[in-house]
Amino acid sequence: MPKDTKISKEQSIRRTKFVTELIISAAVICAGGYLIKGVADRSQTVGTSPFADVTDVAELPENTTEAPDPNAVIYDTVSRPLTDIFKGELILVNNYNEYIGGGEDLVSILEMNDETGRTCFTTVDYSYMIAEPAYEPLAQMIEDFYDKTGIDNLTIYGSYRTREFQQELYDASLGEDEPSARVAKPGYSEHESGYAIDFSTIPDYDFDGTGEYSWFAENCWKYGYILRYPEGKEDITEIQYEPWHFRYVGVPHAYYMWKNSLTMEEYMELLKEHPYDPTGTSHLSFSDDNGKLYEVYYVAADFSADTANIPVPNGVKSAISGNNSDGFIVTVYVGEAPETEGTSDEASDQSSDEESDGDELDDENSGEDSDDTDDDYSEEW
Ligand SMILES: [Zn+2]
Repeated sequence: MPKDTKISKEQSIRRTKFVTELIISAAVICAGGYLIKGVADRSQTVGTSPFADVTDVAELPENTTEAPDPNAVIYDTVSRPLTDIFKGELILVNNYNEYIGGGEDLVSILEMNDETGRTCFTTVDYSYMIAEPAYEPLAQMIEDFYDKTGIDNLTIYGSYRTREFQQELYDASLGEDEPSARVAKPGYSEHESGYAIDFSTIPDYDFDGTGEYSWFAENCWKYGYILRYPEGKEDITEIQYEPWHFRYVGVPHAYYMWKNSLTMEEYMELLKEHPYDPTGTSHLSFSDDNGKLYEVYYVAADFSADTANIPVPNGVKSAISGNNSDGFIVTVYVGEAPETEGTSDEASDQSSDEESDGDELDDENSGEDSDDTDDDYSEEW
């Protein structure tokens, strides 16, 4: 009995011990399972997170189209009086666009020749004036012509005219029978702007743009000048062919008009199809034959305000001109540093040798020729 008891006690202890071990084992297994599950859970949690991150990163470009492009052009706003529409190198003056301007920076051509020691061309007298930005390019053009040909008989026979002088010319021309002898009505002559000149020669007082003198029509764009009233475009300019009359507009614009055989009328119309656009895609972008890259765009004026706010690119040289009717033209000298902080009103720096490989010339407009040169066009000498 005691033995049984002893055994049973022993068995009981063993059983208890076994059960305890079972429980502990079970507990350990359970704990282990929990632990494993926990690790598994945790690993699942940790595991999905990086994938989510990767997915987010992969989707980032699509979801962040508003993110600033470090290469995007930033535009500042320049405020100008609305009346500046009537000022600048690109003002279009013709039978439909009266010259209003006023307050031009004029210089005497002969005084400037004296100052710069130039003797290869002359004018009638010291009263012959020209818009200041147009002098140096003109003088350089004639100097280069002289260096090339040795011809030094050029004289500037027409330049800036006052409204009064234009009136005198106009009144005198009314008595003429020949329509070609008419001159532009006062207010509608480009000469009043100071940006136009007429070539002549001494002693014949004749400049027909032929022979050696044809160099001017071909090369004037390099100095920012255009042959303003070309042959075959009389129906557009409403002025007879004038091989002697040149107009300063600045190099980019002179180049574009020359290259595409556009009159200034056509070019100014074309620019309206290239309005300001913060992405720049609608701007007229081209490079000239010297590899300089330009961007040009039109900013329509808001006539309800006295001040015009004109967007110009930050950190790039640019210039603003009125178009003399309804807005402004911004010229961007891509790749050229601004002369002063912000923007510059200065014309192209022709001495700059900075070069950039630009886009192909935007050749969307080719000139069309017409032969109706016998029409009743007035003269703008
Ligand atoms: Zn003229």
